[in-house]
Amino acid sequence: MNIHEYQAKELLAKYGIAIPAGYPATSAAEAVEGAKKLPGPLYVVKAQIHAGGRGKGKFKELPADAKGGVRLAKSIDEVSSNAEEMLGNTLVTVQTGDHGKEVNRLYVTDGVDIAKEYYLSLLVDRASGRVAMVVSTEGGMDIEAVAHDTPEKITTITIDPAQGFMPHHGRAVAFALKLSGDLAKQCQRLAAQLYTAFIELDCAMLEINPLVETDDGKLLVLDTKMSFDSNALYRHKDVEAMRDESEEDPAEIEASKYDLAYIKLDGNIGCMVNGAGLAMATMDIIKLNGAFPANFLDVGGGATTEKVTAAFKIILKDPAVEGILVNIFGGIMKCDVIANGIVQAAKDVNLSVPLVVRLEGTNVEKGKEILDNSGLPIVSADDLGDAARKIVAEVKKTA
Ligand code: ADP
Ligand code: MG
Repeated sequence: MNIHEYQAKELLAKYGIAIPAGYPATSAAEAVEGAKKLPGPLYVVKAQIHAGGRGKGKFKELPADAKGGVRLAKSIDEVSSNAEEMLGNTLVTVQTGDHGKEVNRLYVTDGVDIAKEYYLSLLVDRASGRVAMVVSTEGGMDIEAVAHDTPEKITTITIDPAQGFMPHHGRAVAFALKLSGDLAKQCQRLAAQLYTAFIELDCAMLEINPLVETDDGKLLVLDTKMSFDSNALYRHKDVEAMRDESEEDPAEIEASKYDLAYIKLDGNIGCMVNGAGLAMATMDIIKLNGAFPANFLDVGGGATTEKVTAAFKIILKDPAVEGILVNIFGGIMKCDVIANGIVQAAKDVNLSVPLVVRLEGTNVEKGKEILDNSGLPIVSADDLGDAARKIVAEVKKTA
């Protein structure tokens, strides 16, 4: 689960981490109210969306030369006019995709005199099985280019979970950032605080970009992105309360209500499969046949007719879907239950795209009978390869 920048900063502040003052706002009036509580004379108005790259982003509704999603304002009036211009419009950044994200919330924060920008993030490094700190002297808006063109400017420091964060880790971070004296001390303290926050809050990722050195020699967190391990959210009610469903894919929210594992993808063939492994294999074989899956969907082991119906409806709501492949191995889950769900859902939603079904396992004959007698144009397949070929051919036919 992701949260907004202003929420992440609230959490970090609880760990004693230095954050510039700021206030969230959902209207220009609220933005002005927030700005009045700040010392000024420089303010920054920041779009709050669950995506990075806001500074270099473009608003769909505004002229191409209009400013992006992070704007400096030199007066309260400028805070107001920038807020007016941003709210309700769609911000497109490298991370949002072409459709962009509607900006419904802003963060008005203190403008900081920046001497230098650094990069510092923590993540779960699967290769080493440890939390890693990734740092670079080249922080700011071009960190992706740094990673691509000059990877030697990025240092990774891993932390043994049995040992925890040690002073030498902090020194290594400060050294990698080429800091000395008081700045190095601030950096060591910050690295330790961030590690504690990361572990205590069960984060999946915590990124500070930029971490800045101010003109008067302070290290400040200017931007932060935080995401959490969903499986540990039950331990953090305060974090769970920060969920902003308007930032999430409505289909994924709907799927979670029925306990379905659903991830939207970019292709045109909807998949309904039981078991994550079979779902992955199904997606692979669709690709092998020259098409792309529209989603990953695992209905799980003990699905009911209702669950299958819900899954079907979620797939069909995606306008990109031009055909559906159902691939079910009936073990615990019986083929006739699946078949009933498919028929029920197809009738409920007036199925308008080709449907290929491959059933195998418990009660397969009963299942096939239900499909055959449904009066629906369902194409039956014998195995995985056959099913993939058939759905790709069906979709090409209608294209
Ligand atoms: P994003 O990463 O989404 O583009 P950031 O918050 O990192 O958004 O802002 C982009 C850039 O704007 C930063 O790299 C920094 O140079 C500048 N910036 C952001 N916040 C402030 C601030 N409070 N004061 C001064 N400059 C800022
Ligand atoms: Mg940033």
